[in-house]
This record gives sequence, C-alpha cells and structure tokens, in this order.
Amino acid sequence: MDEECVAELPRGGDLPWALFYPADYSVASSSLGYHYIYRALKELGVAVERFCNDPVPFRSIEGDTLLERFPIITASVAYEGNAEIFYRWLNSANIPLLSEDRLTGNYPIIGAGGAMTYINPLLLSAVCDFIILGDALDALPYAVGSLRSYLAEGNKEKLLDELGEHPSILVPARHIRNGKVEVKRVLSNDQPLDAGHPMNSTWLTPRSSFGKTLLVELQRGCVRNCSYCTLPGCFGKMRYRDSGMIKERLEEIFSAREVDQVGLVTPEAGDHPQIEDLLDFLESKNKGVSFASLRLDRLTEKMLSALKRGGRHSVTVAPETGSDELRFSCGKKFTNDMILEKLGMAASLGIDQAKLYFMTGLPGETDEDIKAIADLSKRIIAETGMNLILSVNPFVPKPGTVWCGKEFVGTAAIRKKYEILEKELTKTKKKRPQLRMTSPKEAESEFSLAWYGYNESMALAKNNGISKKVRFDPATRAKTLLELERLW
Ligand code: SF4
Repeated sequence: MDEECVAELPRGGDLPWALFYPADYSVASSSLGYHYIYRALKELGVAVERFCNDPVPFRSIEGDTLLERFPIITASVAYEGNAEIFYRWLNSANIPLLSEDRLTGNYPIIGAGGAMTYINPLLLSAVCDFIILGDALDALPYAVGSLRSYLAEGNKEKLLDELGEHPSILVPARHIRNGKVEVKRVLSNDQPLDAGHPMNSTWLTPRSSFGKTLLVELQRGCVRNCSYCTLPGCFGKMRYRDSGMIKERLEEIFSAREVDQVGLVTPEAGDHPQIEDLLDFLESKNKGVSFASLRLDRLTEKMLSALKRGGRHSVTVAPETGSDELRFSCGKKFTNDMILEKLGMAASLGIDQAKLYFMTGLPGETDEDIKAIADLSKRIIAETGMNLILSVNPFVPKPGTVWCGKEFVGTAAIRKKYEILEKELTKTKKKRPQLRMTSPKEAESEFSLAWYGYNESMALAKNNGISKKVRFDPATRAKTLLELERLW
C-alpha cells in the first residue's frame, strides 16, 4: 500500500471494527471525516480496518479480512447514494438488512455516521442499530465503551439501551416506534475546534482524488445562507481554527516528513478571517496549495497565485446560474461582471482552465436563465481565453435548507433544460466548453432518498438497497419533515 501515515497510531486493538466508506478509495482518502474517525478509533485502542469499493471489495485494506468477520460494522455516509451502496454491501455479505431481523442470532452490530446524519439520519434508520448524529468524534468514546462491554458480555439489549442514553446517538430500536420518532436527540454540531480536535489527514496517498496532498481543516459551518445549501441549517454555526494553531501543527508535520501540497478544507476558503496569513506562511514554506472550495466574490490574487504555485492550471468556482437575478435568489450575491473580473485575474496569472458549477431546475428558473449559462460561458471564453468545463447539476431540494419545500422539477423537465443548454452551446464557435451533466435519474434518486423516513428506509432494505424499486410517495416529504422536527 502506498500510504504514508501522518500520525503515530497505536497498533493492534481489542475491538474488531470494520470502518466502511461506500465509495472508491480515492474518494475515501479525500474525506477528512473518514481520516478523523479512523485515527480516533485507533487511539481508542480499537482494531479498526477500513473498507472501500476498491482495491478489493469486501476485503479490508489493512488485513485483507472479510467484512462479515467483524462484529462491528459502521459506515461514513456522506450523501444519499452512499446509503444504497452501504445496504448493498451488507446484503452481499449475507447480513440481514433490517435491524429488527438481527435482534437475535450472531450478527454484527451495524452503525453509521457522516454528513448525511446532519441532514436526514432517518434514511439509515431501519438498517442501523445506532447512528451517531453530527460530529461523531464527540460521541465516539462513549460508543466504543458500550461496544466493548457488549463484546465481553454479548448482551445486545443492554447495548442498545446504553447507546440510546447518549443524547447524540439515535438508536432506532429504542427511539422510533411504528415509524414515528419518540425522543429528542441532540445534533452535535457546535463544539469549538480547539487544539484537542484533529485537523489534518491521517494518511497521505497519491491515490487520493487530490493526489498526495495534506488536507487541513480550516473551518466548519458557513456564515452565509444560500437557499439550496444544507450547510448553514445542518452543520452548525461557523467555527474556525486560529491560524496560529494551524501553523504550529503544520510546522510539526513539515519537520517530520516531505509534504509538497496542502489542501485547505473549508466550505468557502475566502471566508476564513486569517486566510491571507496562512497563505503567506505556506508560501514561505514553499508549499503548493489547493482549496476544497473557492467562493467567487472572495477570490483574491494571493489565493490564485497560491494555486498556481502548487502547479495547478485550473480553478473551480460555482456561479450556480447564468443570470444575476436568479443567482441572487439563491443567496449568492455576485454578478456576472464580477465572475468575469475574477476569472480574468486567474487567466492573467497563467491559469488557463476553469471548472464552473451550475444548477438547473431552480425555483423561478426560465428557459432564458438556461440560455444565460451558455451566454456567460461564451463571454468568459471571449474575455479570458480560458478552456471551460461546465458541471451542471439539477437542483434537489433537501431537508434543513431554506428551499426545503420547493419543487423538484422531475426528470422530463431536466432533460428539456439540458437540451436547451446543449443547443445553445453548439453555437459556440471557439473553444466549446466540455459539458458534464448529472443524469436526471440520478438526481431523482437523490431527491427521493433525501426525504426517506423510517418506512421508506425499511422499504429500501427490503429491496436490497435498490432505491428504484421503492415507490416514492410525494407526501413522504411532509411526514419526514415532521419526524425530523420531532428528532431535534
Ligand atoms: S453554498 Fe457555500 S456560501 Fe452558500 S451557504 Fe453553502 S457553503 Fe455557504
């Protein structure tokens, strides 16, 4: 394995635990949350082994061990589609999917955590014995203690009782009756990011989506409130790390190992109050820099220069729409002129490619707004000479957002919008942009899974994790919203 461990981790452990990331290894290695949980479990003396879709499915990365050998299996569920993959894996390992079918018999304990638990943990509720809600590191030592006692005593009823006593752990067998949530839980999303919290990758690998890059978390939460985004409503108030603390940690890492690239992980890098100071520091250390996300209106020359220094020739930003008015209604208060100005700045620094994220199917969107995406692209090409990649994704209303009650336009309407955009782009004479569009079916599946309650989670389990076999009733949205209000 071409991994380099950044932290000193204890070997061995006494609690065999399969930590599953329902995606490829490259994606798992790009998830700081997954790095954190692995490290925390190691430090708690757990014999944890990781599982991903590759290099060998169903076998652990560390020991080539089969999934079904583990008495504890948990998954980091980052988004809706991960739940389906998780369910299918359990099914393929002959583990009954419904938690109620595992109450007796020698089956593993199944748990979950991850970004999805901040938004709608009910998606996971018919399958998991326990779900850690929000920042999992806070409840993890408690869960490990309970699972250790369970392994020694074998009393599952006691385990469920005990886990259910923690305010940030949802135990469906104890907290949900007849599909209804009966107990308030606390979503853990407000602890300060102090020195005790991990802040960087646990391992480095060239096979991560970002290449061999040391990921460093600058902040959680976001000060803005974009209408479609789950971050402000679900991930807590903005918490950021002081640059002094980050620099101290980086000094330690740089003195111990070779690091060429540092990836700054934050919802919007430009919002961190000490970003310029951090960039100066990284420049003084001659490190390349990449950003998980760049907000157009906060993009500075220093940020772009840092990208360029790291060998990047491409910048990724999210105009979301081609027209100012629709963009403003999303909560993004910047204009096409500003987009042109910032991308012009990038081009003057030698960045010759831009990846632009757009959404379609937004509330109030017209055909003219779709055409405006093509118009904006043409302007950017004409004024900056950049090559463009357009990533176009259907708007999916999610729980916990300002637009949670808005319509999902459906697959037929999305196809029509895509056709309009494709037709407009064929009129581009020079440097026609590459167009990458999320499949309408995939968006539809994401929409329905986002709103699953306990009963739908059960239906998904009964259909072996295949959501297209589950009929989605539009009335489910209102019911799930009610259940989530009962939950927190
Ligand atoms: S889209 Fe970006 S700026 Fe808007 S709320 Fe989400 S993270 Fe913040």
